Amino acid sequence: MISRAGLSVARQVRPQLRTKPGPTPVASLSALARLLSSLAVLEQRDGKLNHGSLGAVTAAKKLGGSITGFVAGGNIKAVAEEAAKVNGIEKIIAVDNAAYDKGLPENFAPLLVENIKKGGFTHIIAGHTAFGKSLMPRVAALLDVQQISDITAIEDEKTFVRPIYAGNAIATVESSDNIKTITIRGTAFAAAEADGGSASIEDGVDPKAECNTEWVSENLAKSDRPDLATAGKVVSGGRGLKSKEEFDRIMLPLADALGAAVGASRAAVDSGYADNSLQVGQTGKVVAPQLYLCAGISGAIQHLAGMKDSKVIAAINKDADAPIFQVADVGLVGDLFDKVPELTEKLNKQ
Ligand code: FAD
Repeated sequence: MISRAGLSVARQVRPQLRTKPGPTPVASLSALARLLSSLAVLEQRDGKLNHGSLGAVTAAKKLGGSITGFVAGGNIKAVAEEAAKVNGIEKIIAVDNAAYDKGLPENFAPLLVENIKKGGFTHIIAGHTAFGKSLMPRVAALLDVQQISDITAIEDEKTFVRPIYAGNAIATVESSDNIKTITIRGTAFAAAEADGGSASIEDGVDPKAECNTEWVSENLAKSDRPDLATAGKVVSGGRGLKSKEEFDRIMLPLADALGAAVGASRAAVDSGYADNSLQVGQTGKVVAPQLYLCAGISGAIQHLAGMKDSKVIAAINKDADAPIFQVADVGLVGDLFDKVPELTEKLNKQ
């Protein structure tokens, strides 16, 4: 049985794998904070700062100590200047080289490692995004430390909390590595605001590492709707929608009425009702909106892993025993083909 409040707690203390110098003794917590220095890896796309990646700055603030931001790509000046306005960042390290535009981890990892070595950082923090997930384990391997992934809380400078088993247990992980390479769950650390900071900007080192991987092309699903990962409201459909035509006919007007992003279960994605980028869950996006309204979704554990931290969960399902009702704050037992259009109509009249 899954309950929102019923998460079990596990404690995992990683044994030290290699002999490393012991920690430097410090007199007080504030002295410790002075020794900590975090590097927040900030993402950019087409010369624009990805504000979602500013959650790394929020995590660095929780750690205490100095915060440096890292950006790389072609014509990086504007991105660096925008990042410099984020409160709490003291310095931006910027590497101006179009070879890093697409964030290929094969060349980005050695670039980051060179700058980490030069800066002597204690914590390297990136978002648990497609980019961060691909980049940070490589960085950890190059630094010969253990990667700490997808954290949702920071207990102290060496102790981190992360969900495991699709969110059904919480592990508290302690790291004795000298440099901690971390990815953070975006829903757990709100993006820091670019509101009046004035960090200095300096050029980073560019090793121009040989890269055997070449960027060929990309196919992006374009949408005018809010971004699923960061939207305040999400409307999600499952296999109960029965076809792509019905998914679009039933769910999209509801999303429009609410100004919500659209999500889907894996069954809906696998059946071709919705694009792969809309999948919510263990192997899809993890979301935590103010409102998650789903229809025709049973509530499999792998789906819950991606949405159970939503503030309000509302579910429509014709099966009163569907597991989704165990996590729902509001549940409506009924046929979605009647109930969803009725709800959409009422919302549009308001
Ligand atoms: P179903 O389980 O088939 O449920 C359909 C629901 O619709 C039923 O509850 C039914 O009562 C209801 N329904 C049908 N008709 C109507 C109607 N007319 N009106 C109202 N209700 C109706 N799943 C994910 O979603 N995300 C993931 O990231 C994910 N990752 C996975 C990873 C692994 C390793 C594995 C093994 C599985 C993963 N899954 C994931 C799949 C998951 O186990 C479920 O199979 C999937 O979530 C089911 O999707 P669903 O709820 O849409 O379909």
